[in-house]
Amino acid sequence: MMEHLLIVIAGPSGVGKGTVVKELFARNTDDSLALSVSCTTRSPRKGEVHGKEYFFLSEDEFMEIVKEKGFLEYDLHFAGSYGTPKRFVEETLKTKDVVAEVDVNGALNIKKSYPQAVTIFLAPPSLEELRRRLVGRGSEKEDEVTRRLARVNYECSLVGQFDHVVVNDNVKKTVDEIEAIVQKAKNGQ
Ligand code: ADP
Repeated sequence: MMEHLLIVIAGPSGVGKGTVVKELFARNTDDSLALSVSCTTRSPRKGEVHGKEYFFLSEDEFMEIVKEKGFLEYDLHFAGSYGTPKRFVEETLKTKDVVAEVDVNGALNIKKSYPQAVTIFLAPPSLEELRRRLVGRGSEKEDEVTRRLARVNYECSLVGQFDHVVVNDNVKKTVDEIEAIVQKAKNGQ
């Protein structure tokens, strides 16, 4: 039995997951939420800190955890692999609700291991707006933007497997909705 909630926030790249999660934590004045820090083999973006946004690992370190079955979910990719470390989440759930920000497949894999997890699909208001955000963020080269956008149809086809869908048109409204979902889940509704 899980004592605290595992809240999984997923959605296409550029939809605003990072932005929304940041606002969710900015509002968390009672410190009841903890962030699940993922592992990645990609390089840090400007301002990202090891152990805060991600644990930045070498390929070898990452594969060692894969071998030990230490990830709740992981995705191997030459441009950067990502994984959610199992032990970190389980330890943190003993004292706090945990928010995991993952990709769409990752969220569904977590749901398989933890059916009690509350999965939230963050959807873009439109494909054009998603492209605008992804390009506007400016952190990927053009071919990487194209690669990420090519996945969107597939990712959106899995939306029905999520517990909740929230359209991220306005960050404040999106976070209001997520807080309401969390509150209901905590009240067992
Ligand atoms: P993700 O983590 O899902 O890849 P980010 O949080 O990095 O997405 O957001 C991608 C870009 O979209 C950023 O430049 C961010 O400022 C912008 N953005 C996020 N949410 C919104 C929103 N509701 N309205 C407009 N722009 C947004």
